[in-house]
Amino acid sequence: MTLDDAEAFAVEQGWPRFRGEQVWRWVHDKGARTFDEMTNLSPATRVEFAAKAMIGGLTIAEVQTSKDGTRKLRLVTRDGQSIESVLIPMGDHVTQCISSQVGCAVDCQFCATAKLGLKRNLDAGEIVDQVYLGRRLLEEQEPGARLSNIVYMGMGEPLHNYDNLIKSLKILTNDKGAKLAQRRITVSTSGLVPKLEKLGNETVRPNLAVSLNAPNDDVRDAIMPINRKWNIGKLLAALKAYPLEQRRRITFEYVLLAGVNDSLADASQLARLLRGFKCKVNIIPYNPHPEAVYARPSPAAIEAFQNECKRLGMSTYLRIPKGDDIDAACGQLANRSNGSPVVPLRIRKGLPPPPPVE
Ligand code: SAH
Ligand code: SF4
Repeated sequence: MTLDDAEAFAVEQGWPRFRGEQVWRWVHDKGARTFDEMTNLSPATRVEFAAKAMIGGLTIAEVQTSKDGTRKLRLVTRDGQSIESVLIPMGDHVTQCISSQVGCAVDCQFCATAKLGLKRNLDAGEIVDQVYLGRRLLEEQEPGARLSNIVYMGMGEPLHNYDNLIKSLKILTNDKGAKLAQRRITVSTSGLVPKLEKLGNETVRPNLAVSLNAPNDDVRDAIMPINRKWNIGKLLAALKAYPLEQRRRITFEYVLLAGVNDSLADASQLARLLRGFKCKVNIIPYNPHPEAVYARPSPAAIEAFQNECKRLGMSTYLRIPKGDDIDAACGQLANRSNGSPVVPLRIRKGLPPPPPVE
């Protein structure tokens, strides 16, 4: 529920409206996972709420830790589906990569999640609960670490789950709840043109990343079937029209596949495509997994591609793979276990209540 939903829910039940906000703040500001933790509610009210509503859609089934400090959480939904979420250390803060669907229907040829197919959309509660569990895990295992950025780059195509995406963004950025800054949230899409147009008109304004991955339609058709529906021309036209906040740029993701899209000629075609765009390009060297036939280019080829992009005036960043030893890097999320033991989260007692509702 968004805050508005929670207030409407309270009224529907015949309770005062402020009770909706009170409970909502416990969940989204304080991270309460049971009604019993809500110490400024009478025990009778807690019981009434527990009979009508649920908190938290997910439980942690496994945490794998990489040698570089990246943690991959396997989370299980109430109906027994598994999804993954990744906590990535980035200098003085942590970025969390969250999932929007169980599996994905887009079928990009280089991506391990694609091989799962689409099982179902996550609801907004399951999307935001990844963040709350991520925060709690850091709180317990790495006090002082700050979870400051969220990227919708885990399993799934966020724009295929549009309504829950928007709802989750509204919840996470609400200043009475998790209070995440909009500029610290990035939504990544494979390029669903009609939904991009819709996203541009929302009040909530995350950063936008687009998985371009190819310098022309021939290559993109071959590696991303979605291109046959919305090709590069249509995609870039939609992005040209996309209303960007001041001082923001679109990020283009470019998975570098040896012999497919990594030549110097590809770099110059890419530069021509993106000329005049307020954008940056994230070069992501292919992360291998057993289901795909591609290979990561050699370090020399990666460097040559990036240098050519720079020489042609593109602002490019090389994504150093994080967590690839535990299959937690981009494109490797496929619910693979390594049998890590589960460390249950502590039950928190004596939590300070959220501020009173005026
Ligand atoms: N579905 C969304 C977000 C999740 S995928 C999207 O496609 O944008 C996140 C990023 O991982 C995308 O940019 C995708 O191109 C990239 N990716 C997928 N498989 C990969 C692989 N094997 N190696 C490197 N990056 C990969
Ligand atoms: Fe889905 Fe993104 Fe993987 Fe493509 S790259 S299959 S859109 S998760």
